[in-house]
Amino acid sequence: QQFMLQNTESGDAGQPLEKRAKRDLALEKEIETAIGERQFEMHYQPIIALRGGNTVGFEALMRWRHPRRGLLYPAEFIEVAERTGQIVEMGRFALEESLNALKAFQMLSSGAGASPRPPLTALAEAAPEPRPRSRDPLFMSINVSGRQLFELQEIDTIGDLVMASGVDPKQVKLEITESLLVDDPGHAAAALQMLREYGMKIALDDFGTGYSSLSYLHQFPMDTLKIDQTFVSTMGRDPKSYRIVRAIVGLAQELGMETIAEGIERNNQLAGLREIECDYGQGYLMSRPASFREARKLLQSRQARW
Ligand code: C2E
Ligand code: MG
Ligand code: MG
Ligand code: MG
Repeated sequence: QQFMLQNTESGDAGQPLEKRAKRDLALEKEIETAIGERQFEMHYQPIIALRGGNTVGFEALMRWRHPRRGLLYPAEFIEVAERTGQIVEMGRFALEESLNALKAFQMLSSGAGASPRPPLTALAEAAPEPRPRSRDPLFMSINVSGRQLFELQEIDTIGDLVMASGVDPKQVKLEITESLLVDDPGHAAAALQMLREYGMKIALDDFGTGYSSLSYLHQFPMDTLKIDQTFVSTMGRDPKSYRIVRAIVGLAQELGMETIAEGIERNNQLAGLREIECDYGQGYLMSRPASFREARKLLQSRQARW
């Protein structure tokens, strides 16, 4: 598979092959243990509506609570987990865990149990609303590795997990990267179509960093474009990247896609993004990714608004 080759080639290529192979094998075994002992956990970074400043959703990001090395970030383990295929099982965990978190977050933010059901009869339609209309329910954005979508059967597993969770699939956004689309466009189109038939939303992550063929944007069914933080971070001081982001947002709007800006760290970036009418944003300026408990607290406090 082209996918495997790419990943073996990338990363710390300077290291002697044998040393790397040994290190990867050790890591693979450790990941195996970690899966069994539930050492992985999900953290949640708020995503805000730039207009109004409310928290509208979260991105779920995986962490490894390592017994000796402390809290590890994806950079330390995702690449190997993708190569070994362990990411498939880890991805199921990520999905189940973050769907549970989403249910809890939605309950908190609507203040009244689950989101209101649509009326079943005309009578119900005529009846007054039982409670004041709350804003749209929160969504959860979940990163999915191309490796997880190799097997169409796994896509059904993902769909089944979402259906079984009781969460409205509309509020589930799967983040994919361009490499999925490039490696096997035909398969990718089928995979994305299947996911959408379950009612889930698709976001293209890290837009602008990879191959970024503009033709992908209308060739594949996608709902959201995530603008990579490399553009956002230079927005304030480099007029060129400001214009690039403005063009990306304009393009997305033309194609009926929503935009999320990643990695907002400074007030001038936030202001710039508001100016060009980017829809959503996330970044350390608002909040770092937080544990489930911290994220829940954040939602309860007035800080959930920026
Ligand atoms: P990503 O999906 O592009 O996620 C955004 C990354 O940017 C996260 O890094 C997040 O912590 C970081 N970030 C957010 N705001 C800021 C900011 O203002 N400044 C800076 N400098 N960084 C910010 P993280 O958590 O280390 O994750 C790295 C990558 O690992 C993710 O990039 C994603 O590709 C992958 N990943 C994370 N969780 C999962 C998962 O559950 N499954 C899969 N397949 N991949 C995952
Ligand atoms: Mg992401
Ligand atoms: Mg991203
Ligand atoms: Mg990124």
